[in-house]
Amino acid sequence: MKLQSALIILFVPLLSGACVHTQDKKFSESKNKVMETAETIHEKNPYYSRTDTAQLHVPLSEWKKILPPEVYEIAFERDTERPFTGKYWDYKGVGTYYCAVCGNKLFYSTAKFASTCGWPSFFEPARKNAVIYKPDHSFAMDRTEVICGRCGAHLGHVFNDGPGPRGLRYCMNSAVLDFVADTHEAIVNK
Ligand SMILES: [Zn+2]
Repeated sequence: MKLQSALIILFVPLLSGACVHTQDKKFSESKNKVMETAETIHEKNPYYSRTDTAQLHVPLSEWKKILPPEVYEIAFERDTERPFTGKYWDYKGVGTYYCAVCGNKLFYSTAKFASTCGWPSFFEPARKNAVIYKPDHSFAMDRTEVICGRCGAHLGHVFNDGPGPRGLRYCMNSAVLDFVADTHEAIVNK
């Protein structure tokens, strides 16, 4: 018995340590993936700007040439990513979400909430004209489509079952969002 107890005392902390290490590694890998995506994916896209708010009128054939296929399919073929698969559905970084097609500022992380639907969910856009709305009667449903206010990309839908005073849930596709983390200065000045 004494030997068993000694083994338990010896191994339990080692196993716990291994678990913590694995989780840390997983988190840091996913964080790196998020950062890398935001910084490098737009090299081929001359229309991408996080400061220019002028509306874009770019032909679909041009978007198809310069956007990654998974972004184009959701943005301009109105596809939907599978739930619980996108990079932001449970992401908790502090910062701002921009349109992955054009760089338009869409949502602050302070408006993101833990929805169980499997897609990143927000209760309000970053500013009034960040997105525009369009009735969507596809698949025999009455929904409201949410479109980027600058480039017209399909982002997702808005539903009336969200938290907060307006009760809205902006249910977005991760593939058409770009997360940019707040700098230390931005956090301090908030
Ligand atoms: Zn856009």
